[in-house]
Amino acid sequence: VISVAARPIDTVAGRHGAVAVFHDITERKRVETELRGFAGVVAHDLKAPLTLVSAYAELVAEALADLAGGAGAPTLEQARRGTAKVLHGAGRMQRLINELLDYTAARDATLRVERLSLRALVDDVVVTRTDAPDEEPDARPDVFVGPLPEVCADPVLLRQVIDNLVGNAIKYTPPGRAARIDITARTEEDGEVRVRIADRGIGIPDGEHAAVFDSFHRASNGTAHPGTGLGLAICRRIVERHGGHIDAGPNPGGGTIFSFTLPGVAAGIRTENRGSSKD
Ligand code: ADP
Repeated sequence: VISVAARPIDTVAGRHGAVAVFHDITERKRVETELRGFAGVVAHDLKAPLTLVSAYAELVAEALADLAGGAGAPTLEQARRGTAKVLHGAGRMQRLINELLDYTAARDATLRVERLSLRALVDDVVVTRTDAPDEEPDARPDVFVGPLPEVCADPVLLRQVIDNLVGNAIKYTPPGRAARIDITARTEEDGEVRVRIADRGIGIPDGEHAAVFDSFHRASNGTAHPGTGLGLAICRRIVERHGGHIDAGPNPGGGTIFSFTLPGVAAGIRTENRGSSKD
C-alpha cells in the first residue's frame, strides 16, 4: 500500500486506478519473488550437478587415457563410479529442466477439455509410479483407489496434477508397511468433483500448508528429499485453469491430505477449450 501512495494515481480513474496500480505492484512482487527463486534453483540445482558432471567426465576421460597407455590415471573402478555420477547429475538437470518447461506450459498451453474417466487416468499414474524398477517393492506405500467419477478436463494437464500429487505422496512417505495412500473423489452438490489424495507420510508443519503451492517453495521438514518446489505450483496453475481450487491440510491419522476440485460432466462445457490464462 505504501508503494501505491508513492506512485501517481490517475484521479479521473479514481478508485479503479488505485486498484489497477495495486494489482500491478502485486504482480511485480510476484514476478520478482519468482525470479529470485529461479536464480536460486539454477545456482543450486543446475550448477551443482553440472560441476559434478564436468569433474567426473574428466576423471573418466583420464581413465580412458590410461587404458590407452597413459601413466598415473584413475582406475577403471573409479571411472565406473564416475560414469554413474555423471548419469545421476545429468538426470537431476534433466528433471529440473522438464519441470521448468512444465511450469511454463501449465500456464501457456491451450486447454483441451474433454469428458474423461478419472479412474483410468489415476490407475495409469499409480501403475507407472509404483512399477518403478529401481525401488524396493516393500519400501513403497500401498495405494488404494476408491470409485472415481468422470470429469471434464484436459487429459494431459490433469495427468500432470495427479502424477505430481501421487509422486509426492510416495516421496514424502517413509518406507514401511503401515504407510498407505488413499485416492478418493466425490461429486458435490454444485456438480463439481472433489478429488482427495491422503497420505500418512511426514506431513507438512502447521502454518506451512498454503505456502507449498508457491513456486520454488519447500516445506521446512522436506528438504532432505530431492525436489525443486515447482510440482505443486504446476498443480495449482492447472487446477485453477480448469476453474477449480487446490489446497492441503493435515491428515488426522498423520500425513497430508491434498484436495482439488474439477468440473464434473455437467459443468464441463463452461471450461471447454479455453486459451491460455496469464496469472
Ligand atoms: P518438490 O517436491 O519438488 O520440492 P512440490 O512443489 O511438489 O516440490 O512440493 C513443495 C513442498 O511441499 C515439498 O518440498 C515438500 O516440502 C512439501 N510436500 C509436498 N507434498 C507433500 C506430501 N505429500 N507430504 C509432505 N510434504 C509434502
